[in-house]
Amino acid sequence: MATRLRPRHLSPNQVMKMVKPYPDGFYCSKICQSQCCRNVDIYVLKSEEISYEFWKANYPSLGRKTCGCLDAEGLCSIHEGPRPLICRIYPYFIYQGGIMASLNCKYVSEVVLPSLTSHVVRDRVFKQILEYLTLECSDEQVVEIEDRLRQCKGVFLLIRGNLDA
Ligand code: SF4
Ligand code: SF4
Repeated sequence: MATRLRPRHLSPNQVMKMVKPYPDGFYCSKICQSQCCRNVDIYVLKSEEISYEFWKANYPSLGRKTCGCLDAEGLCSIHEGPRPLICRIYPYFIYQGGIMASLNCKYVSEVVLPSLTSHVVRDRVFKQILEYLTLECSDEQVVEIEDRLRQCKGVFLLIRGNLDA
C-alpha cells in the first residue's frame, strides 16, 4: 500500500525561530556576519518614542555604513535598549495585509523560505509573524512603514497566508 505523504509540520519552537526578528544571535553574527547592521539604512518613525535627534546624538555612526551599536562579537549592544522599531521588526514588515520579508536577509532566504514546504507551514509562520508585528507596531506605524517600503530599493517577498488556518 502506498504511504501517504503528510505536509511537513514545524514544532511551535521552530515556528518561533522563524518569527523572531534578529532571529538567532549565532546565525546573525557568525553566519550572516550581521549584514543588516553593516549596511545600515536605519530610520526612526515619526511616532516612535525614540526620536531621530536622540538616535543621531547617541549613535553617531548613523549615516555611515556600520551601525555604532554593533559590538565586537557582531551583536547589537543595545538589543534590549532603545533600538528603532525598524531594527526590532526586521526582516519582516506588514504590507497591505501581507508580510514583506526582506530577501536581503540571509536568514529569510536560507532558513525561513526553504522551510515553507507546505501551505500548512506557510500559514502557521505567516500567522505568527503577523501576530508579532501587530503587537510591535501601531496602525499608524504600519502605514508609515508601508510608505517607506514603497520608496525602498531593497528586494522583498510578499507572503500571504490564511489566517483561519
Ligand atoms: S540580515 Fe538577517 S540574518 Fe543577517 S544579521 Fe540581519 S537579521 Fe540576522
Ligand atoms: S541598533 Fe542594533 S540592530 Fe539596529 S542596526 Fe544597530 S546594531 Fe543593528
